[in-house]
Amino acid sequence: MTKRAFNFNAGPAALPLEVLQQAQEQFVDYHGAGMSIMEMSHRGALYEQVNNEAQSLLRKLFNIPNNYKVLLLQGGASTQFASIPMNFLRPGTTGAYVATGSWAEKAYKEAKLFGETAIVASSEADKFNRIPDVSSIVLPENAAYLHVTSNETIEGTQYQSYPDSGNVPLIADMSSDILCRPVDVSKFGMIYAGAQKNLGPSGVTIVILREDLAQDSPKTIPTMLRYDTHAKNDSLYNTPPSFSVYMVSLVLKWLKERGGVAAMEQYNRNKTNLIYNAIDNSGGFYRGFAQPESRSIMNLTFRLQSEELEKLFAKESEAEGFVGLKGHRSVGGLRASTYNAVPLESCQALVQFMAEFQKRHG
Ligand code: PMP
Repeated sequence: MTKRAFNFNAGPAALPLEVLQQAQEQFVDYHGAGMSIMEMSHRGALYEQVNNEAQSLLRKLFNIPNNYKVLLLQGGASTQFASIPMNFLRPGTTGAYVATGSWAEKAYKEAKLFGETAIVASSEADKFNRIPDVSSIVLPENAAYLHVTSNETIEGTQYQSYPDSGNVPLIADMSSDILCRPVDVSKFGMIYAGAQKNLGPSGVTIVILREDLAQDSPKTIPTMLRYDTHAKNDSLYNTPPSFSVYMVSLVLKWLKERGGVAAMEQYNRNKTNLIYNAIDNSGGFYRGFAQPESRSIMNLTFRLQSEELEKLFAKESEAEGFVGLKGHRSVGGLRASTYNAVPLESCQALVQFMAEFQKRHG
């Protein structure tokens, strides 16, 4: 049997073993074509099927209404940080942002390059350890959109309910929590996510865009950054990241077989309850970074009493087969990323390791 690490990487992250094995089986000869999926034309029937399947599975699993386009793009979520203001910010309008942490700030900073922006809620004063209250956000009168970061991968916070932006399109970066729980897509103008956490390998970025926003991008922006280019061409305007899209289609099939997104949410909650309970019942040895009401079920951040102890935790856990538990360099501490494909067994092993570590060093 293949020995698999207890992989808690933040992204690229764990993929389902069954998916890797299926890709391995089809790697050299895809459906009798005498070549791999990577070696064939993206205009041929076999790839067309992959492109269609990835989109239709995503539509079904995420319950995407018919008046939305699904785009499969390149450049990562970071490119979307620029594409959003380039497509939607017009002279005299303002891009509104909620400042929740490192990734929200990056999105906001990029938008500032292109026009007027405003921060309409922020938890910076609390070091971004919570999602700010968004129930009574006041948007600028000329708001072009409201941008939120659904899950802050570095701080480990996640929206429990999204703001109501009225007629102003709500845009969400769901890079680190797409498909971890059901979402009412009709509440959003746009949802986007890099694939490399919950959907597959890096290389493809998913954009779910309401049709009226996928038309008439400004003529002055580069062809590749216009949403209407990709919407009109079914994400085949230029050469797509075909292997990544193929892997996403396998991950989506796997998710469907596992019972879909609602079943996955339950699984994710079972996994993360184990770890949060271990933190909360440690008598202060482990301390959660995110405030309980903002805790993420994808990235679990916690600290120990000293940086030395945190370093030791990272080192000793690594020696026992755990990967990726060191927190992001910008905030320190420890972080376990428990994306959809991280098995319950890895979380059980982590909880056991945490108890043993506390016994040794507490
Ligand atoms: N947004 C969030 C919430 C992320 O976690 C990341 C990547 N860690 C990004 C954006 C940037 O994604 P990419 O590396 O695909 O540009």
